[in-house]
Amino acid sequence: MYHHIKKLMYTVNVGTPDVRFGNMLLEQFGGANGELAAAMQYTIQGWNCVDDLARRDLLLDIGTEELSHLEIVGALIRMHLKPMKEKREAAEADPLVCIAGGGGLNLFNSQGNPWTGDYLKITGELDVDLRSNIAAEARAKIVYERLINHTDDAGTVDALQFLMTREITHMKAFSAALESLEKSPFSIGRLAVTPKLVDEYFNGSTGDGDEGDTDMHGPWQSSFGLHAVESPMVGGKGLSNGAVDGVAGYEARGKQDSAQKATTATKVQTVDKKPIPKNESAAQKGRQATLEGEPVISVK
Ligand code: MN
Ligand code: MN
Repeated sequence: MYHHIKKLMYTVNVGTPDVRFGNMLLEQFGGANGELAAAMQYTIQGWNCVDDLARRDLLLDIGTEELSHLEIVGALIRMHLKPMKEKREAAEADPLVCIAGGGGLNLFNSQGNPWTGDYLKITGELDVDLRSNIAAEARAKIVYERLINHTDDAGTVDALQFLMTREITHMKAFSAALESLEKSPFSIGRLAVTPKLVDEYFNGSTGDGDEGDTDMHGPWQSSFGLHAVESPMVGGKGLSNGAVDGVAGYEARGKQDSAQKATTATKVQTVDKKPIPKNESAAQKGRQATLEGEPVISVK
């Protein structure tokens, strides 16, 4: 049940309206990283989250706050767009908003693209959703920062500073919720990934560049058990698919990941129960791909 309180979460005072800035602010109203997208993403994740009532509460708390942020951004936009209703020059800043929408709010981004549910990242896997939310808060923060850089209106800056700050608050809360699940950071879902292969960093970009860059190295090639493997293009062995390439039912297939699970993790029946095809593997036939029943042309 929702209840509306006739008071903004943060009082908005606009000194000098700026229709072009009002148009830019639409990015946080009906844009991909905007407040409606955040409100809907967290709220719907919360409604899905029936197995973890504590984190469901968190998702609904923050989803509801985002709706209050939408109201603040809406108030800011409405005030900045006001001159559009009377002045032709102001109206030219956004004919779509002015002529079709009467200079008021509507669910568009700053380029006039309509809001879409495609903006939402909802997987129904709690830890995966929390990671999406942490990233979403980082994006919202940077958008507010850029908006602040493009206005000198003190009241507008104050409201945007409030909204920007709250996104980092949310980022902290989502991070704490993820960490407190005590899941291994690379354990996603229930199925175990293929050993050895998972630790291979494919060095797919080599040679000397025009900017003096050579084959660059960093911790991304050596942390968390990773090591670099060279591409066959430069004489390397490539990924160690050897043992599994084209082979149905290889050793590691369908094993359950033994690490701690989020309570909402989708239950997966082990795929080992599925019959393993009896015909020869693609690798044994020396072909790139096989389809059952297709004639096998021998390669000499
Ligand atoms: Mn927000
Ligand atoms: Mn937020």
